[in-house]
Amino acid sequence: MTPIVEYRDLSKVFYKDNKQVHALAHVTAEVAEGELLAIVGPSGCGKSTLLNLSAGLMKPGTGEIRYRGKPLNGVNTQVSYITQRDNLLPWRTVEDNVALPLSLGDRPRLTKQERRERISHHLEVVGLTGFEKHYPGELSGGMRKRAQLARSLVYEPDMLLMDEPFGALDAQLKLVLQAELLRTWEGTGKTLMFVTHDLTEAISIADRVIVMSTRPGRIKAVERIDLPRPRDVFSIRFAPGFGDYFDRLWSALRDDIRQGQEV
Ligand code: ADP
Repeated sequence: MTPIVEYRDLSKVFYKDNKQVHALAHVTAEVAEGELLAIVGPSGCGKSTLLNLSAGLMKPGTGEIRYRGKPLNGVNTQVSYITQRDNLLPWRTVEDNVALPLSLGDRPRLTKQERRERISHHLEVVGLTGFEKHYPGELSGGMRKRAQLARSLVYEPDMLLMDEPFGALDAQLKLVLQAELLRTWEGTGKTLMFVTHDLTEAISIADRVIVMSTRPGRIKAVERIDLPRPRDVFSIRFAPGFGDYFDRLWSALRDDIRQGQEV
């Protein structure tokens, strides 16, 4: 089967204050259709750059990205992108925020009834039924994340890119939202790329974990996580095998932390 995304010898250099910043170097990898791939690495190692490239928001310096077997040129409208920053529009209600992607030009036109059903279905999936008329300012941090998730699912993209979506939340809420994410994702067949600096989070949810090195980001280790699904994120860390995955991936990350980089 053709992978959904292929990265072929990608490199990316930024120019900042007349200096070169080598964000990525020689990244070659594939993302399989339907997999949940977690990417971990020290901060500044190019994880967000890899997602930006996958979304077609920027071009690689050298190398190539293929999406469904074809070179990716321009914005990738088949993917939806959730960043760490909360970008709900404060002046729109929850349902109007969630409806936003349905108004984008290249989407198939839905009738009013279909739109209403689609929005209400996705609000139900993320547990926000009853909050349709609320404004983002009236919601808790976790509810705003759920609204963002509903907004990214509403146009039924093939693939989701998530950049540390739960990074700023407290540990308990993070677990609850991981559980909800898995419940929402498992069985959909959608591809999910999830950037995090939390190794436990990565192993708990992913089919595969990629560890990236310090800048310039290279792929340092790849590990398939063969823990059974459906997974219970609250107890999976105590499952047999979890500790071995953690030890192996941690040893790949550890050297970079010794160099003084924050993970
Ligand atoms: P990560 O997500 O792993 O923290 P990023 O991909 O955000 O890393 O950034 C990798 C490096 O590239 C960092 O040093 C960052 O400052 C730099 N960088 C990212 N985007 C830009 C940009 N648009 N212009 C200049 N430098 C950038």
